[in-house]
Amino acid sequence: MKLRVLLVVLFLLTPLSPSISATPPKAGATCSKAGITKIYDGKKFTCIKSGKKLTWNKGIQIKSASTNKNSNSNGPSPTPSPLVGVQTQNSIEVRKLSIRYHRPSSDYTNWNIWIWRNSDDNSKDSLISSSGVNFEGVDSFGAFVSLTVTGMRNFKDIGFSLRLGDSIIRDIDKDRFITTFDSRGFAEIWLIQGDENVYTSRPDTSSKPLPTPSATSTPSPTSAPTPTPTPAGVIAALESFKTFPSTNTEPQKLNFHFGPNADKDFSELIKELSTGTMKLFADHYPDNRPLPVFFGDLSDLDWVIAEWAKYGYTEQYQIDDARKRSPGLVVNYWGSPQGHPTLIWTSNQLKDMPRLTKMNLISHHIVHAIQHRSARGKYEFLGCWGAEGGAELYGALVNVRIADFDYMEYRKQKISDANRNMGANLSSFTINDWLGVIRPIEQAPCLDTSKTANLHYSVGMFLMERLVGEFGHQKVMNWWGGIRDTLDWKIAFQRAFSTDVDSWYKNSAIPYLMQVFKE
Ligand SMILES: [Zn+2]
Repeated sequence: MKLRVLLVVLFLLTPLSPSISATPPKAGATCSKAGITKIYDGKKFTCIKSGKKLTWNKGIQIKSASTNKNSNSNGPSPTPSPLVGVQTQNSIEVRKLSIRYHRPSSDYTNWNIWIWRNSDDNSKDSLISSSGVNFEGVDSFGAFVSLTVTGMRNFKDIGFSLRLGDSIIRDIDKDRFITTFDSRGFAEIWLIQGDENVYTSRPDTSSKPLPTPSATSTPSPTSAPTPTPTPAGVIAALESFKTFPSTNTEPQKLNFHFGPNADKDFSELIKELSTGTMKLFADHYPDNRPLPVFFGDLSDLDWVIAEWAKYGYTEQYQIDDARKRSPGLVVNYWGSPQGHPTLIWTSNQLKDMPRLTKMNLISHHIVHAIQHRSARGKYEFLGCWGAEGGAELYGALVNVRIADFDYMEYRKQKISDANRNMGANLSSFTINDWLGVIRPIEQAPCLDTSKTANLHYSVGMFLMERLVGEFGHQKVMNWWGGIRDTLDWKIAFQRAFSTDVDSWYKNSAIPYLMQVFKE
């Protein structure tokens, strides 16, 4: 039953509108932010990074569609009824708005309104505030703001989207519109987190559950000046993680060891990202001894081994293993109670690596150190998707918070990685097919990676995204910490999330994956 409800929610959510700015996009012309899209002349353009420049791609043709921007999705219609396509008084030059916004958890920090004078011709839309309109205060319903909009004579109505800071995170992945005003040009609207309706009178919020993380897909035919949509599951994961660290615990100290031939830029990136990662996990790394971090070029291998020795890391089999694994990546966590994230690469490998990959490579390995510490040296018992998917997901979440990291772009790569590794298009997979994908990536410790086809890095990341989005970051940390008490991660999972993992796959995680792979 629960499954059916969830599927209904997932599939009824409608699409969203990409953004536009004042000038029409042209292939190759510069744009402001990777990932934003813009509809122009029947084509959808996406801002992409090519080298160091941001440019519009050549655009893809979109299907023609109705010009009615305000057509509602056919989702369940709660009371009171939302505004729909009522004719506005175009002659009124000045509009006065009262906007009320309810979030069940009362976390209004940084939420603001991206709002514009809306026209049928999207290229004529005009922003009301280039930085977004902030709320004035919070009352018993939620956050509120009143504003006066001038210069409305030549516009149809007012478009808006609730967003977090100046990020791409939106409350609803859909542009909404204020279309009905009284004879004085006044409109009061009431909004609820995760509910796309624009209410004209105070809706009942007493029994509103938190919205189920879900994702939307197909681009809609209309456009407006809003940030690129972010699936609700991503928003939920980012938002939960954003509330950490929750204490003033001093972050774990790091000791950096960079080899004589270590790439300088990459060394700097390691310092920045690993320090930032440790800060965000200050609550979850119970150790006061500095964590040693090593990085070098392959020609620094002897130097690294000599540095290891200073930490008492002299076991011959470990040294032999490091030598055997080169040329290539050497990553190491054993050897000291703290664990040693050690990366060794050739300069060539680094040179060819996309920046997104570089960034996640670093944070990924610091997250492993955190897992290792949380699980008291047993992080591999989290299983393939728990350990690797966890490092992938948290590496990305950390980078979104501390650096300019395009998580949506990274997810796209993961989706295509998964399809390629599976040798199939996962968007057509059934629940049983998905169980067949997940079983091999459950093994703990994660040793036989010939069976996983690397899907623990991609599918594993989305499983983790769902976990954090659904249960919150703290419970996921409880799960990792639970490996201290049992090496059976499924038992630790049941203890942390109060559900057995198989029910979770069927009722929550797989429906989520099915949606992700349709994005
Ligand atoms: Zn890893």
